[in-house]
Amino acid sequence: MTERRLLIAGNWKMHGLHREGVALAAALAEKAASHQSAHGPLHLDLLICPPATLSREVSETLAESVISVGGQDCHTLERGAHTGDVSAAMLKDAGCSYVIVGHSERRADHGENNDQVKIKAAAAHACGLTAIICIGETREQRDRGEAMAIVGSQLAGSLPDEANASNTVIAYEPVWAIGTGLVATVADVAEIHAGVRAGLAKALSDADAVRVLYGGSVKPDNAAELMELEDVDGALVGGASLDADDFWAIAATCL
Ligand code: PEP
Repeated sequence: MTERRLLIAGNWKMHGLHREGVALAAALAEKAASHQSAHGPLHLDLLICPPATLSREVSETLAESVISVGGQDCHTLERGAHTGDVSAAMLKDAGCSYVIVGHSERRADHGENNDQVKIKAAAAHACGLTAIICIGETREQRDRGEAMAIVGSQLAGSLPDEANASNTVIAYEPVWAIGTGLVATVADVAEIHAGVRAGLAKALSDADAVRVLYGGSVKPDNAAELMELEDVDGALVGGASLDADDFWAIAATCL
C-alpha cells in the first residue's frame, strides 16, 4: 500500500480581519516550531486557507514555518473582467500553494457545478497550485441512499484530465456535517472513502497516492478516530481551525 502523508487543512471561510488572522497564523507557526524543536520534523502537512484578503500577510507570517497557505476558491480564468473574483495566479502570487475548489458553500451560494469545479481545478494546476476538490452529499441525498452515487458522480465530474496525486487532494465533506456539529459515523466515512478511492482508481494511474481528507465538524475530541481510518488521509477543518489550540489539537492526533 502506498504511504500517504497526512494533510490537516484549516478553512477559515469568511473569518479573519488583519490583526486576528495574523495572530492566529503566528500562534500556529509557534506551535509547529516548538513541536519541531522538541521532536524533529513534522510527519504531516499543515495548511491554512485564510480569506483572500489575508493570503499575502499570512504567507509572510508563515515564511519561516512549515505551514502552507491556500485559497478558498479561484476563478476558472487567469485574468479578465470578472468583478470580485480572484484567480489562481493571484493566489499563487500572494504566496498560496493550494486552493480549495468546489466547497459545498460555493456550490450552494454560487451555484457552482462539477463542470465549473473541474475547470477551476485545472486553472489551479496550470498555475502550479494543488487543488483540494470538495465533494459530499446533502442530508436528503443520504436519506435517500444516494450518498455514494452522488459522491462518485461529483468526483468523476470534478477531476480534470491532468489531475494526479501531486496536484490534487480530495476532500469528502458531507454537506449536513459542515458547521453543524454532526459528524458522519466512522463506518460511513470509511465506506465513502473506500468508494472515493475506487473512483480515483478508475480515473488516475496514481490513485493510490492521492490524499482523501474528511471534513465536517472535525474537532479535537473526534479527530483521532477519523484520522486512524485507512483511507482517511487528513482533515479539512472549518470552525475548529479558527482556534489555534483546537486546530493544533486536531493535528496532534496525527503526530
Ligand atoms: C469546512 O468548511 O470545510 C468544514 C468542514 O467546516 P466545519 O469543520 O466547521 O464543519
